[in-house]
Amino acid sequence: MITSKSVLITGSTSGIGLGVAHAFAGAGYNLLFNGLEATGAQIAADVAKQYGVQTVYSPANMMKPDEITAMVRVAEKQFGRLDVVVNNAGIQYVAPIDEFPVEKWDAIIAVNMSATFHTARAAWPGMKARKFGRIINVTSAHALVASEFKAAYVTSKHGITGLTKVLALEGAPFGITCNSICPGYVKTPLVEGQIKDQAKAHGISEEEVIAKVLLAKQPIKQFITVEALGALAVFLASEQANQITGASIPIEGGWTAQ
Ligand code: NAD
Repeated sequence: MITSKSVLITGSTSGIGLGVAHAFAGAGYNLLFNGLEATGAQIAADVAKQYGVQTVYSPANMMKPDEITAMVRVAEKQFGRLDVVVNNAGIQYVAPIDEFPVEKWDAIIAVNMSATFHTARAAWPGMKARKFGRIINVTSAHALVASEFKAAYVTSKHGITGLTKVLALEGAPFGITCNSICPGYVKTPLVEGQIKDQAKAHGISEEEVIAKVLLAKQPIKQFITVEALGALAVFLASEQANQITGASIPIEGGWTAQ
């Protein structure tokens, strides 16, 4: 599929967001990259060269509503339109509730949840006017089920499950769909670090950490790939997916079937 449509992907200078960006670039989309990595502008330039698409990089901080709105306007100005928003930027912190730092709670709710409201709110008028829009949220299996010690993360991701349904209803008359993709564990740099740390902490091999700790809840004992997530996101953005809306789609090796 070749398209001249455009996509804004938050947190796309690392991990899942970067993988999803490659999938959209491969399908011919122009892309706005966002993320805190210092390599952002270089990544945007490299992807433009590799796929022959237009790209732009925005260092907007997802904790700041004004910067989020300005980032959406950059995409609209640069590409003439913004068809797809992928809300992917996310952070995590793990602690029991009575030890959970208040500032970590506030940051996780802001980046993982509130930023999704702000991007959708800013992109909405343009999508409504053109009678086409796709809002795709990268949530988590933790948007559907809980784990202990992840109060802020689980709350933020469940919050987006609700927002996804609201936007689906509000977007229905205007050709705008909103869906969430709910991954299990994906082997991003973030998770690779966790594997090493846990192996040291428990005095077990990295293979044992993967099978017994990380993938304990995934019946198919394999990591989800960024390629699979990218393919699903590109499909949800397509014309063929116009009847899929308000859904939170698990891609987690059977985790939430239990
Ligand atoms: P990552 O750390 O590799 O990437 C996160 C991206 O978000 C980075 O580009 C980072 O710069 C950006 N970001 C963080 N805070 C930001 C802020 N304030 N402003 C702008 N950008 C910010 O992580 P990842 O594993 O690729 O995770 C991406 C998304 O997928 C997150 O929402 C995460 O919750 C979700 N997820 C990850 C996994 C997994 O196993 N890796 C599983 C399920 C869901």
